[in-house]
Amino acid sequence: MFERITEAFRAAVDKFRGKRRLVAQDVEGMCSRLQEALYDADVPHAVVTTFLEKVRDRTIGQEGIEGVHAEEQVLKIVYDVICDILGRTSVNVLQVGDAPCVYLIAGLQGSGKTTTIGKLALWMRREWQQTRQKQLKILCGSVDFQRPAAVEQLQIVAAQAGSDFYRAQHTDPIAASEEIFRYAKHHHYDILLLDTAGRLHTESGLLEELKAIDARIQPAHRLLVVDGMIGQESLEVAQTFHRTISLTGGIITKLDSGARAGVTLGFRMIVQRPIMFIGMGETIDDLELFVPERMARRLIGEGDLATLLERATIRIEAAERNRMEQVIKNGSFTFDDFALQLRMVRKMGSLRSLVSYLPGMGGKGMSDQELAAGEQGMGKFEAMINSMTRKERIIPKLLNNSRKKRIAQGAGVTVAEVNELLRAFEQTQQFAKLMKNHHR
Ligand code: GDP
Ligand code: MG
Repeated sequence: MFERITEAFRAAVDKFRGKRRLVAQDVEGMCSRLQEALYDADVPHAVVTTFLEKVRDRTIGQEGIEGVHAEEQVLKIVYDVICDILGRTSVNVLQVGDAPCVYLIAGLQGSGKTTTIGKLALWMRREWQQTRQKQLKILCGSVDFQRPAAVEQLQIVAAQAGSDFYRAQHTDPIAASEEIFRYAKHHHYDILLLDTAGRLHTESGLLEELKAIDARIQPAHRLLVVDGMIGQESLEVAQTFHRTISLTGGIITKLDSGARAGVTLGFRMIVQRPIMFIGMGETIDDLELFVPERMARRLIGEGDLATLLERATIRIEAAERNRMEQVIKNGSFTFDDFALQLRMVRKMGSLRSLVSYLPGMGGKGMSDQELAAGEQGMGKFEAMINSMTRKERIIPKLLNNSRKKRIAQGAGVTVAEVNELLRAFEQTQQFAKLMKNHHR
């Protein structure tokens, strides 16, 4: 899977072998090689640009960290950037609300919708059994009356997955979708997986039909199945679907058959929705939950590089802790340091586990809501710092209103929230100064 880009990542990291220090010039050289490799993997232009920007950005302040080899540093940087691009957080796909919880499955013809529904049904059933010791009632239904025998195909895969299937009497897709939904509700199904017709292109007729079904059924999940073999034009198609039914996520199929990495790397940024699953073959077992970190490890190549990454992570963390102490001693404090601090808090686990270390708190000092809000707040802070330019991070005074607006937009927050970040930053900066005086 993705052998070519993995080879390129490996070659890029290899150039740093034996070097004791990370030098900005060498990173520039690596960036141009990465650029070539990313285009070769059919990664969309906007994603390539962001990728390289992030690599350069993360390199800042990493030059000449004590006790870590350059090779380990760049590997960690590339890995972190891949995680960023893929979205980092993996999502809870089996979130069942009002029964039946409807998953609308959309996509072009031949992308793998029907096959994927069978795989999903099996995956969900297993997942549910493992975590809740209870049977999950899943119904599969199809409103694909375009392709001959499409409904029968779903019937077969549903049976393979050990889940139920209902055939609608109606032959109009919209009426049929309502009929299937009523059946699922009446028979108390937990989950309804609804297969839809996919044409060869995003004809507006198909999209109108999908929009109408979406409006009637109001599915909790609207998943787009994308053929990983097609290449980056499928991301444009995905955007069209997204504009029509506001997708909740994507499933990339056929990653077993020599697909390039472009669609997988680009989906999150271009469609602004997470990848939920990947299809890895034609049989009902060939579905994997998409975990960004796992995919990132695969992309840099498992095996020796993965081992090197583990070692690098430990050593870099130690070096970063050192640097933090240094910062506190010197009293200089930038947004890079602030981001580093946030990352360190994250790595130590959730806020809850942190709070439990504080004397007299025992984890009881904050309500669940406060903790969740705190964790969400940290995520927002990180997003905002990520939206800053290198210069802004080092010279926070630059942040005027128009810059704040841009950062808010980039991070999907309000300007008021950017101001909140600034206040938190200033407080921490004051604290760093205090500590400096204290150390004297
Ligand atoms: P639909 O038209 O979107 O419903 O697509 P189908 O489910 O009928 O699948 C189209 C073809 O793609 C079938 O031959 C499937 O076996 C194949 N297919 C689907 N998912 C995968 C996958 O992850 N890997 C491979 N190799 N083939 C797949
Ligand atoms: Mg089908």
